[in-house]
Amino acid sequence: EKAEIGLIGLGTMGSNLALNIAEHGHHIAVFNRTRSRTDAFVESAGSLKDSIVPCYSLEELAAAIRPPRPIIIMVLAGKPVDEQIAALRGVLSNNDIVIDAGNANFRDTMRRFSELSGSGLTFIGMGVSGGEEGARHGPSIMVGGTEDSWKRVEKVLTAISAKFKDEPCAAWLGTDGAGHFVKTIHNGIEYADMQMIAEIYGILRDGLGMGPKEIGKVFDGWNKGRLNSYLIEITAKVLAADDPKTGKPVVDIILDRAGQKGTGKWSVIEAQQLGIPATAIEAAVAARVLSSIKDERQAAEKAYGNIGVAKISGDKAALLKDLELALFAGKIAAYAQGFAVMSGASKEFNWNLPMPTIAKIWRAGCIIRSQMLDTMAEAFGAGGASTNLLMAPAFITMMKEAHPSLRRIVARASEVGSPVPALSSALAYFDSYRQGRGTSNLIQAQRDFFGAHGFERIGEQGAFHGPWGSGAGG
Ligand code: NDP
Repeated sequence: EKAEIGLIGLGTMGSNLALNIAEHGHHIAVFNRTRSRTDAFVESAGSLKDSIVPCYSLEELAAAIRPPRPIIIMVLAGKPVDEQIAALRGVLSNNDIVIDAGNANFRDTMRRFSELSGSGLTFIGMGVSGGEEGARHGPSIMVGGTEDSWKRVEKVLTAISAKFKDEPCAAWLGTDGAGHFVKTIHNGIEYADMQMIAEIYGILRDGLGMGPKEIGKVFDGWNKGRLNSYLIEITAKVLAADDPKTGKPVVDIILDRAGQKGTGKWSVIEAQQLGIPATAIEAAVAARVLSSIKDERQAAEKAYGNIGVAKISGDKAALLKDLELALFAGKIAAYAQGFAVMSGASKEFNWNLPMPTIAKIWRAGCIIRSQMLDTMAEAFGAGGASTNLLMAPAFITMMKEAHPSLRRIVARASEVGSPVPALSSALAYFDSYRQGRGTSNLIQAQRDFFGAHGFERIGEQGAFHGPWGSGAGG
């Protein structure tokens, strides 16, 4: 019996995705560049072995799958994907579907899509979130490609995806790069979410002098309330864990230098290209960059003296409540930015991105899954969030309750010297967004002064200049 689907790349994600597919009753043919990995994979597949066909060349892989063949590529993003596609062109035939499931830059996906159009092969760019565990037991799946090609793989992809209640967290989001773009923004939001959690951890650790275990309990408590989410849940677990080697809390033996693979940066670049502010995501990316220059930071600490975060005094229960609400408000602002970027891209690239669907397929399986995404799905579904999530009635109510806490926490943190770049960016965004009359009248005056750019007068049509006289211009 021939396999229904193929998969190339048996690394962390590919091997787990293959097991997930096999477990759902689909025969799958697999190939990996390094042969030993294929053998080890089949060996580890246990009772699923019977549903897996190991292949040792692309020819063998193509022969093992029933045409028209869907083939998932799950290799290192970038050049390896182009190499795989080029090699596949030699062995595949008309109507076969090549699915890139790695973390591709959506611009590469758009290029690959157009390169393959007219070749007889169909290309799908598919974002997969949920890490190893998600790939194995149900990821969130964001698909970009033609609607026809989606229909041909819908059954298997919805079967292996995460479920929120009974709804599959897999969906077709638009043509060419739509799926990978949405995955990129998912990751950008994930950066902001993680950074804001880390900032709150910093205040608890340095401002309140709490230990990891105690902080873990705070997060565990928050996970039962409005902040209920995967990231809060794992933060509590991480903080509770001890290092087997030293017996110390794991977080205390980990170097404070964060890695990144590019999706956060891409989110920010695209946001800038589209002219949509995504300041909380930007701050989170910048925080990772700053974290990575550890030596420079240590030298600066010597030069300026230890920041010596002052202890925050006052009613601890009230402070903890403020921290919870501050994180909640910051998170809403970050999501509002992420969705606004998607909305801008949707127009720019003619994707017609379905925002309610995106919020829905993020409710389970992916790293940013949370209680709040269900509320967002409702808000987008009801049309109230079509300009900005911050304008949806449910979110206006929540922000009205939570933003005073965000303000107090950002102010306190700044006073005591605990850096809160993402939370303060979120607050500044919110404040600027809600301010009916801002300060750009002065910017316009300056621009007119030095560059004769002109300005609009309140309540009048046309372009005007100021009475700058000599000395202006240049
Ligand atoms: P791994 O490092 O575990 O595996 C990489 C795979 O790519 C291996 O099968 C490797 O084959 C193959 N590979 C690398 N270079 C080439 C090449 N030049 N030609 C052919 N095959 C190659 O990676 P992951 O499984 O973690 O990631 C795979 C993709 O999924 C990436 O795009 C990643 O960004 C994305 N992703 C990862 C997530 C995660 O949590 N890890 C989450 C979501 C997406 P070989 O055995 O021969 O080295």
